[in-house]
Amino acid sequence: MVDALGRIAWPQGGDRAQFNQSLTRLRESLQEFTPWLKQRTIHCLGHAHLDLAWLWPIAETWDAAQRTFESVLALQADFPELTFTHSSPALFHWLEAHRPELFQAIQRQVKAGGWAIDAGLWVEPDLNLPGGEALVRQILYGQRYCAEKFGQVSAVAWLPDTFGFSWQLPQLLTQGGIRYFATQKLGWNDTNPFPHHLFAWQGLDGTAITGVTLPPIGTDIEPVDMAQYACQWEASTEWQECLWLPGVGDHGGGPTRNMLLKARRWAKSPFFPTLTFWPCRAPYLTDYWLGQNPPLRMKASQPKSKIQNPKSLSPFGTTNSTSNSTEAATPPTATRSFTIAAAKTPCFRLNYGRPWPC
Ligand SMILES: [Zn+2]
Repeated sequence: MVDALGRIAWPQGGDRAQFNQSLTRLRESLQEFTPWLKQRTIHCLGHAHLDLAWLWPIAETWDAAQRTFESVLALQADFPELTFTHSSPALFHWLEAHRPELFQAIQRQVKAGGWAIDAGLWVEPDLNLPGGEALVRQILYGQRYCAEKFGQVSAVAWLPDTFGFSWQLPQLLTQGGIRYFATQKLGWNDTNPFPHHLFAWQGLDGTAITGVTLPPIGTDIEPVDMAQYACQWEASTEWQECLWLPGVGDHGGGPTRNMLLKARRWAKSPFFPTLTFWPCRAPYLTDYWLGQNPPLRMKASQPKSKIQNPKSLSPFGTTNSTSNSTEAATPPTATRSFTIAAAKTPCFRLNYGRPWPC
């Protein structure tokens, strides 16, 4: 690469033709890397991080949600490849009551596979201070609402921006039907960087939940940032497919037209990984990564993962009876337990079908 770049005839005396010829030669010399690059895939999933309460009045939260969701639906008309995820049933509930037409349009997009419901908790809450009952209600209300309005409970606790996590969460989330703990906050450490992108987090009672480090939120289609993230992900997990969450965030916003145009351009580049939008109808990405869905299994030609038996990562009864028993008995190298905060929370088992005894 350094040699190739060194052959560029940087403009001297304004000789544009000579400069362009050197670029063409550079492009040709790099073509051999295209198949290697294209083995990698970056899956985009539009997102718009929106704290319900932060630096603005609550009325502005509803307003930002409305504008964000309208914008996503309008863009999906022009860019059918765009898929989107949102996490807060509380916002959907407000839309249902106050903007019913918009809410119905979202329901249709969920059904059509354009929106993912990663909404296992009522909001993206603080998870250090609230007591156990509050956490259980977060999960119960979130899952019950998703089941009633979108026909599905969420497989993921989407917590990209939460500052700290109770040690009881693996147990509570699992009992609420949630299989994945997803955050990008563990990366917010300039002293002890969290080393794993895919891991098992074991709680106080021994329950383990699969943890996923999300890519940064509030990001653009920035090829250098995306490539760097994809490299980090692959170095940590040895999986050649990763997620990217384009979309203005922290105050709503979501993907922009400019981002989507850039995504289309980079998808055509021979010098960039395969770039797609994640189909929301597919099983959750981590199911994909863990090889739980046969049609989407990793290609056999890809390097063998350090995770000898990825299924053994999952504590949720997914162990394949045909898998090698020696491998299954060996803890995968990516499996680590870690604790961030401890909270004493009684054990609950949630039942969506019954009303909560308020
Ligand atoms: Zn936030």
